[in-house]
Amino acid sequence: KILVPQAAGNIIEQLNAHGFEAYVVGGCVRDSLLNRTPEDWDITTSAKPEQVKDIFPRTVDTGIQHGTVTVLCDKTGYEVTTYRIDGEYEDGRHPKSVEFTRNLEEDLKRRDFTINAMAYSDRDGLVDIFDGQKDLEQGIIRCVGNARDRFTEDALRILRAVRFSAQLGFSIEEETRKAITVIAPNMAKVSKERIQVELSKLLVSKHPETIVKVNECGISPYISGVFHQALKTLSGEENLVRLPDKKHMRWAGILRHQKPEIAVEILRDLKLDNDTISQVKTLVALWDQEIPEDKPAIRKVMSGLTPELFQDLLYFQNIFGRKPYLESLKKVEEFANEIIRDKDCIRLKDMAVTGRELIAAGRKPGPEIGEVLDALFEEVLKNPEHNKKDTLMNLAEML
Ligand code: ATP
Ligand code: MG
Repeated sequence: KILVPQAAGNIIEQLNAHGFEAYVVGGCVRDSLLNRTPEDWDITTSAKPEQVKDIFPRTVDTGIQHGTVTVLCDKTGYEVTTYRIDGEYEDGRHPKSVEFTRNLEEDLKRRDFTINAMAYSDRDGLVDIFDGQKDLEQGIIRCVGNARDRFTEDALRILRAVRFSAQLGFSIEEETRKAITVIAPNMAKVSKERIQVELSKLLVSKHPETIVKVNECGISPYISGVFHQALKTLSGEENLVRLPDKKHMRWAGILRHQKPEIAVEILRDLKLDNDTISQVKTLVALWDQEIPEDKPAIRKVMSGLTPELFQDLLYFQNIFGRKPYLESLKKVEEFANEIIRDKDCIRLKDMAVTGRELIAAGRKPGPEIGEVLDALFEEVLKNPEHNKKDTLMNLAEML
């Protein structure tokens, strides 16, 4: 049932040939059993990192302190990690120590959920010590071992539980759910980057509306005050899933009731990348600004956005706009398509005159040039047929 990619299979065989155990493990086993396409294939082995490096000619030390070596095969890299027991977690953030072990069971025991704690190899078949397969079939997220202890070791697992339940449409098992509420305050110790990765994965999943659970389980106050306030303004949110599953669209979806500066503050704090932050800021600022059914006004809006972000904005308005606006939005879309088809000038750089040409024609260099260009651009947005060199030069004379 599990189709291991050739390269990963070869790595496992080579390790076996040198007398080591090796399996694919974790997310890829879970996803294969669910008939989902795994993102990447992780390998777990009894070989120590140095031994892995001796066997394979091309490796990269991607996480050697945790026992991970990336083995390069063709163009893909496979993370090969030595069986390990995670030491006590110092502060709910980093394991104090990692200890290598020769025992697969110990390695599976340190993993977060039963569905993530299965290993597989063609030689030995499925290794499923904690009944992960049964939980997969029943759609249950359950901690490996004692839930409170596991969440105390690493509070990020709390958010991962909610994230997996959103991605897979699973429910969270009773004991695990109770432990979430109790250990929620420990989220305050987890780094914002790790939190963000899980929140973003949740948002681009099939069940982005699950984000309200982050508030309901009592986790969000321990992520950040502003984020918590933002989540409290949400309810229902079954429309979120209609947004394309892109990070900036989904984040804008849950932050749409915020002032753009607040949305930016929340995302900066969570260490989102600048591109996403700026896209979200634009969408949050513009989604409830209804665009008139009027080409100059539409060109003006288009001129301030990349073509992609303008399409995103229309998408957003179609989903969250007021009912009466949706009718005129159809007309706006038609006009926008015509503007693109007719190649109307909507970018300063596509104007038929340049600052240099204005100077050559006798304009004084300096900030004034910018002002003249801006005025000409306004004119061109109103009347694209005026985007001709002589017409604009004549107009400039009058400014
Ligand atoms: P995804 O498909 O989102 O990558 P994944 O299950 O592969 O899901 P990863 O974060 O890539 O998740 O982690 C790989 C594996 O490592 C998990 O399946 C799990 O066994 C283990 N793991 C990851 N994070 C933790 C954690 N915080 N605590 C315990 N085990 C973890
Ligand atoms: Mg993974």
